[in-house]
Amino acid sequence: MASGCRPSSRESVADRSAGGAAGCAHCQYAYGAIIRGDTTQKQISLVFTGDEFADGGDHILAVLRRQQVLGAFFFTGRFYRDPRWGPLIRDLVAAGHYLGAHSDRHLLYCDWQNRDSLLISREMFFADLEANYNEMEKFGISSDQVRIFLPPYEWYNQKISNWCQEKGLLLVSFTPGTLSHADYTVPSMGKKYIPSDSIYRSIISYEESQNQHQGDENDLGHGYLPKV
Ligand SMILES: [Zn+2]
Repeated sequence: MASGCRPSSRESVADRSAGGAAGCAHCQYAYGAIIRGDTTQKQISLVFTGDEFADGGDHILAVLRRQQVLGAFFFTGRFYRDPRWGPLIRDLVAAGHYLGAHSDRHLLYCDWQNRDSLLISREMFFADLEANYNEMEKFGISSDQVRIFLPPYEWYNQKISNWCQEKGLLLVSFTPGTLSHADYTVPSMGKKYIPSDSIYRSIISYEESQNQHQGDENDLGHGYLPKV
């Protein structure tokens, strides 16, 4: 999948969205967050997240380097704080990847069933975010430069999007339609586990169905944001 990407994910969503929603006329939104980048551009942005674990981090770094592709990594404050992941984070920064925030403690912002119901206060939201950015500063990542924010659990609502906008942050989430977001599952989860092979096949078959029914513009190469 990565082989078709160009090393430009750092700029892709970030630049085109610099002017806020109006600056990204060809993006797709849900609850105020970008869930697909500019569909007129043949470009895909690979999104990675981390909280407690860094499984495969070095492998991902090596593959991206080999393919000359830049990825977008969103880590919690907990991840940035963990001394075990320090070397990986430094390598990612040195390689020029996009490193952003993913909530300090991976908070659940809103109810899974009633999405409109917030589970956190405005104060909690901003304090948690600030704690995440403080950890990033320790790696030389300035919060002024990384304005794209991927919400914990990729679960948010319009209120969260509004708060992000107040703070000058651009909320993004993965493009729905495939199993790319099931990357967190592990074999010990039993029936809930989705092997990498199935995830990969779901992306390829989605790509094929989109091409058949809606033409080339809808293929995954156009603004797609898979979470891998
Ligand atoms: Zn997460």
